Amino acid sequence: MAAMKRVGVQDKYSGWFFLCGLRPGALFLALALCVALAGIFSAARADDSDKFRKKRLQMVDSQIRDRGINDLETLRALSAVPRHLFVPEYLRRQAYADGPLPIGHGQTISQPYIVAYMTEILHIKPKHRVLEIGTGSGYQAAVLAELTDQVYTMEIIPELADTAGKRLKETGYSSVNVRQGDGYHGWPAAAPFDAIMVTAAAEFIPPPLLQQLKEGGRMIIPVGSPFYVQHLMLVEKKQGKITTRSMMPVRFVPFRRAQ
Ligand code: SAH
Repeated sequence: MAAMKRVGVQDKYSGWFFLCGLRPGALFLALALCVALAGIFSAARADDSDKFRKKRLQMVDSQIRDRGINDLETLRALSAVPRHLFVPEYLRRQAYADGPLPIGHGQTISQPYIVAYMTEILHIKPKHRVLEIGTGSGYQAAVLAELTDQVYTMEIIPELADTAGKRLKETGYSSVNVRQGDGYHGWPAAAPFDAIMVTAAAEFIPPPLLQQLKEGGRMIIPVGSPFYVQHLMLVEKKQGKITTRSMMPVRFVPFRRAQ
């Protein structure tokens, strides 16, 4: 009877042996180890985002505030957007460096200072409607979305438009409206805009964009030859009149046209 009972005990555990190759005690230990490891890995992940946050705040201090950008909302927006999630994975560690970075298809994400400069100069208020031409990675659109929930952005390269749209949703900027197409024509259905930002260098200011600028609105656009000097132009519409001012020499990827 006793012998039979022992056999019964072994039988009781044979299912566990089959499944895990472990006795219950060992199984408990293994589970505890898994829980501990999961804890360590998630702590490592938290460290990772803390590390990027620290780099981001340093970037805002040394590259942006120290160079004269002092609009608090612009500084807050750049401190908030996780730029490292908008660059290709292999470049994450350089995301907060003082320069542009490639984003594929021959395009680039602008230097953080330029993003801040172009954002500040548009004087965006919470209810403003803003159009960006040249979505690229979606980073600049996310910065704009920190300031208003009415952001419209257009990208001519279908793959970039697609990835940027998904990335903006994943990072919590789902209010941004992304459309694939030639931004030369603007976005008539959403016009007029309080502010327009163009992030590719055009040879001249596209007339449809001037038309879609609201009275009192501002546009910032790099103008010039793709192979020569370009100027960041501030365009304003006052009492129906357009004024332009050249702000600084810059270098942007070319504004392309749909065939
Ligand atoms: N603002 C982007 C960087 C833009 S790079 C960011 O934050 O990442 C310039 C982008 O403008 C490129 O992706 C390019 O494909 C796009 N572009 C060029 N000409 C365009 C046009 N006519 N309409 C819309 N997008 C255009």
